[in-house]
Amino acid sequence: MIDKLDLNTKAQELREMLGEDANSPVDIFSLASQIHELTIVYYPLGENISGMCVANERVKLIAINSTMSYGRQRFSLAHEFFHLYYDEASGFNVCSKRFDSANEVEKKADQFASYFIAPYKSLRTMVRKICGNEVPSLQNVIELEQYFGMSHQAMLWRLVSEGYLMRPQLEAYSFGVISTAKGLGYDDKLYRPSPTELQKRTYGYYLKQVEHLRQKDLVSYGKIDELLLDAYRDDIAFGDEDETGGEIID
Ligand SMILES: [Zn+2]
Repeated sequence: MIDKLDLNTKAQELREMLGEDANSPVDIFSLASQIHELTIVYYPLGENISGMCVANERVKLIAINSTMSYGRQRFSLAHEFFHLYYDEASGFNVCSKRFDSANEVEKKADQFASYFIAPYKSLRTMVRKICGNEVPSLQNVIELEQYFGMSHQAMLWRLVSEGYLMRPQLEAYSFGVISTAKGLGYDDKLYRPSPTELQKRTYGYYLKQVEHLRQKDLVSYGKIDELLLDAYRDDIAFGDEDETGGEIID
């Protein structure tokens, strides 16, 4: 049995621990970059895997499937936060993209992720504001997921689990999403995967460590390049043409 209240509380706790309030939409990638010693790898992990988490005394690493939509990547990152902070049983998780997993820990991680992205109370407030007492329409679902930055499927499953939608509506509401979102004036970023050139990338602690080795002159330049290339950061190893150091950043 999943204790939803406990998971919502944990999600709020972690939001606050990472410097967020308990209710607003979050920039989850920015929050992740503040987590001490965490490395994040974006990688095409295939059709079925949404993300991975490795957490032990030596390594904290989260991998996100970059070929899934931006909204799903945000959700996957929140799901992996659950493994990182609250799943003490295992130091290694490979997570399926399915929302109907039979695995108890995966269900908990999904529920936690849903509350992290859209806290219970703020979702309820927004549903009232957007839908009144009506059953949410596809347009309403899109407005809600755009507000919270949640993937379309994750929002549908959440609305079903809270009783705002019935399960048969999942399928009916799964089509025409991008065109409807555009018609409502939204950008389609939430529904698109990362651009191809950014689908393999490493961010966070690993790069800080490489930079430390470079600054302290502990290994050769060749080795530094090798370490960067291992992390799919040829842009740092070889430099981007438009990053000459003299650029003006507005
Ligand atoms: Zn998982």
